[in-house]
Amino acid sequence: MKELIDKYNSLIKTAEKYTSPARDSQLQKEQCLILESLVHNAGLNKQKAIEFQDEDAANLFLGFQCAAGAVICEIRMWVLLKMNKPNEAWDQYIAARMGLRDACRAHEGFKHSGENSMRLESIEQLIFPKQIFVSVGFKAKKQICSICNLKYSACEHLRHKPYWGEFCDIIHKEITGDHLALVEFPADKRCRVVSVNLPEGRQDKLSLIVEPYEAGHVLDDESLLMAEVTAWSNDRYPYLRPTKIVLD
Ligand SMILES: [Zn+2]
Repeated sequence: MKELIDKYNSLIKTAEKYTSPARDSQLQKEQCLILESLVHNAGLNKQKAIEFQDEDAANLFLGFQCAAGAVICEIRMWVLLKMNKPNEAWDQYIAARMGLRDACRAHEGFKHSGENSMRLESIEQLIFPKQIFVSVGFKAKKQICSICNLKYSACEHLRHKPYWGEFCDIIHKEITGDHLALVEFPADKRCRVVSVNLPEGRQDKLSLIVEPYEAGHVLDDESLLMAEVTAWSNDRYPYLRPTKIVLD
């Protein structure tokens, strides 16, 4: 077990050297793939731990999956920025933060992930322009526990806590939207104003590229006030998305 943990830690440490825009993109992609096999391997060992009735080990392997996922996403963020894809890079930045937060929650061995999270936050301030975030209010008729599938209010599991290598989440059922609000500190920073309508076209909020409207597009005063918003993201584990899909 100790040997395995040392191996995982050393792979993650090596990959962390590639979290810089100065590094070669091809080498960065290779590191992402190496960490992806770590995530896969940790998943297999998680299953073994469950078979051996070892919940602590199962949660430790979950933590490795999250921590490796966070490094993968930070590397992909830099690669995507070099590819002139700031919106996709932003999503990877948020995914990296989610991975670190989950690693912290998975096992006490990852408590130091908080420091990395602060480092990432300062990167956000430095490299991304200030953004406008939105928050969606909604009502859900049912709240189900992701671990036992019972009513969350009636079961013994706690949201965000790991159980046998899996996080407890609340699954909202029968949702009705309530309102959309601009907020400074959103629960999910993927929910933001993506583009705004200008007289000459639609402007991307990050790249500032203006895309002309299609022929026949009628622009009145009201549509000039409109913006395209990403209001909802369903992906709970974006840091586990394969690099092949994210970068190609
Ligand atoms: Zn439950």
